[in-house]
Amino acid sequence: MAGEAGLEITDLAVHYGPVRALRGIRVTVPRGAVVAVLGANGAGKTTLLRAVSGTLRFHRGGVTSGTVSFGGSRLNGSPATAVARGVVQVPEGRRVFARMTVAENLRAGALGVRDRGKAGEARDRVHSLFPILAERAHQRAGLLSGGEQQMLSIGRALMANPSMLLLDEPTLGLAPMMAARIAATIREINAQGTSVLLVEQNAAMALGLASHAYVLEVGEVALSGPAAELAASDEVRRRYLGVG
Ligand code: ATP
Repeated sequence: MAGEAGLEITDLAVHYGPVRALRGIRVTVPRGAVVAVLGANGAGKTTLLRAVSGTLRFHRGGVTSGTVSFGGSRLNGSPATAVARGVVQVPEGRRVFARMTVAENLRAGALGVRDRGKAGEARDRVHSLFPILAERAHQRAGLLSGGEQQMLSIGRALMANPSMLLLDEPTLGLAPMMAARIAATIREINAQGTSVLLVEQNAAMALGLASHAYVLEVGEVALSGPAAELAASDEVRRRYLGVG
């Protein structure tokens, strides 16, 4: 069991070839917390999640300085290390395996889990969070609605029993009712003990879920603080909440 330390990102810089996407980033997610990352398109939010999950290299990117650690030990830019330490990313765009069944998609999320009992427990948890995934177990994932595919995408990540979920725009493109359901489920997943780093366009929702938030602008942290304080700040209200 890792220590009580959560996710600690210090002085992080990331480049895609010559293009600098992030610099001087300091972000902390205490164990058990929900922390939100806000920012305009291209600010570097997805890049930040990739740096944590070790998937930058699949996008021809790399960490050029700084460190990312979880539970007191360094994550070294490899997805296998991140998953082994309990850090799992749910990518943007609900990338399910469309030709595979819902059950097969969930099993794919548990591939690294050796203990079959644990995999069964994880599946039961996913089914109780998202009963529709049990009802549709034998249907092809490509036939699910957008919201259901998002549930499957989150469910697949939960099959690895993560300590921390990295969520990239989980409500993007969903109808308001479905977005609210996803938000409620994120709250429930967190209440069950999973820490969450949440990237969201929907700033109002994200600030409602998170205890702390960071605002990225052109690859740097422009603002950070308790979510309630940011929600009350004039700049955040004007730029991200469409108020004032
Ligand atoms: P969005 O909400 O549009 O996804 P974002 O805040 O997540 O935006 P990133 O996708 O992290 O932003 O992009 C940050 C910067 O890095 C942008 O300037 C983007 O063009 C650049 N970038 C992202 N991926 C790559 C890549 N594979 N190669 C080169 N540049 C990239």
